[in-house]
Amino acid sequence: MRIICPICKKVTTWEENPARPFCSPRCKLIDLGRWAGGQYRIPSEEPVQPSGTEENKNDEKKNNDAESHEK
Ligand SMILES: [Zn+2]
Repeated sequence: MRIICPICKKVTTWEENPARPFCSPRCKLIDLGRWAGGQYRIPSEEPVQPSGTEENKNDEKKNNDAESHEK
């Protein structure tokens, strides 16, 4: 069976190919290196959000200021 190496797009064979689906152990290593190098890394890092305690305090203050007893 003929297959195409996903790394270098070279046509190779499935049978008698220890490095399949790659054409050679070298391409297999390149593929592994890509994973290790983070090229396929799933973005899982979330931006660090500052704790909003200070903002909440300010909001509370504003609310108190707005309460101007207009009744
Ligand atoms: Zn290859």
